[in-house]
Amino acid sequence: YTQAKALVFSKPGEPADVLSLHSHSISPSLPSSSVLVRSLAAPINPADINTVQGTYGAKPPFTSLIGTPEPSATPGNEGVFEVLSSSSPDFAKGDWVIPAISQFGTWRTHAVAEASKFIKVEKDGLSPLQVATVSVNPCTAYRILRHYGPNAGVKAGLGMRPLEVGSGQWFIQNGANSGVGRAAIQFGKLWGLRSINVIRERETEEATAALRRELEGLGADVVVTESQFMSREWRDRLAEITRKGREQIGLGLNCVGGKSATAIARSLGDGATMVTYGGMAKQPVALPVGLLIFKDIRFLGFWLSKWNEKDVEGRKHMINDILGLIRAGKFQDVPVDEVKWDWDTEESTLRDAVQGGLQGFRKGKGVFVF
Ligand code: NDP
Repeated sequence: YTQAKALVFSKPGEPADVLSLHSHSISPSLPSSSVLVRSLAAPINPADINTVQGTYGAKPPFTSLIGTPEPSATPGNEGVFEVLSSSSPDFAKGDWVIPAISQFGTWRTHAVAEASKFIKVEKDGLSPLQVATVSVNPCTAYRILRHYGPNAGVKAGLGMRPLEVGSGQWFIQNGANSGVGRAAIQFGKLWGLRSINVIRERETEEATAALRRELEGLGADVVVTESQFMSREWRDRLAEITRKGREQIGLGLNCVGGKSATAIARSLGDGATMVTYGGMAKQPVALPVGLLIFKDIRFLGFWLSKWNEKDVEGRKHMINDILGLIRAGKFQDVPVDEVKWDWDTEESTLRDAVQGGLQGFRKGKGVFVF
């Protein structure tokens, strides 16, 4: 028998209140076409925390599969596992796999699942952290930029135009230091786009300058702080950047909501698109009517889970493409805050790591490392 532990919750609530660590054992006799895996790394993403809080767009089913006293679910959308044994010809001991489905429940030391629930990853040249963080943040940036591209000046009714690689077109984003934001900067650079990146001021000027340099190092063309961005001077600065509107900003990425989202919308050119993919400020998006009527700006939302369901093969290509860029040294990892999880790790340590995941001004994304 394999001894295993999993974080579980049986009702929605704050992670510190509702998460518990459950021990169970896994039978050595695998069902047919199944795989037994051990975890290598699993991130703590904002969406996972929202899932525990019960505010996310999809609710995992509560089941008794791992013998919890009450039906429960294990959170965690992404991660990387090593295959320990397999009754499917598609996987062999030592392979690395990532979940093929949303809400797999990666916050656990081991798992048994049908082979169809996994995708094999070529592990050569990659670290567990790189593979564990590939399938949510980078894929979101990749999909949004590829699909919505900064198509400035599209006339009403003409629909979307694909991204013009190497066009030097501008996009603008808030939450630019998030996992998604950092990925968007890098893909933008690789694909010949230019980016304006909004970040929140750090505690000291030096720390803000250091973050600015970090994002510039990833390929950011312009980095502005939120207070510069919200100030009256922004209009002049924007005119300078866009050479008095000759180069319009064709795409806005909204990670934050609230006033920051409105300011993103105001910076866009005629016929531009604003894609909202996150709501970190927990404030609604208010849109000036004139932007809808006179500038024909399109406001859309994006949810990766839906895209993944609709295009399973496309997702695999995208993941392989991104892993290839990482291997080639063309795509950098996000800063992480490693949370060691071994057999003796206390429940409270794991719970605190999750609870802290939604706090602002973090140095890196929390990732369980096994
Ligand atoms: P990270 O954990 O990497 O980064 C969090 C970001 O949010 C940082 O830029 C942080 O800025 C900012 N932030 C935190 N609190 C606030 C606040 N109160 N007001 C403004 N900004 C804040 O996040 P991810 O990249 O993993 O995710 C970012 C967002 O994207 C989340 O809302 C997530 O749910 C969403 N997302 C959506 C997907 C989709 O399919 N729609 C897929 C992937 C992510 P600072 O450092 O200044 O605190």
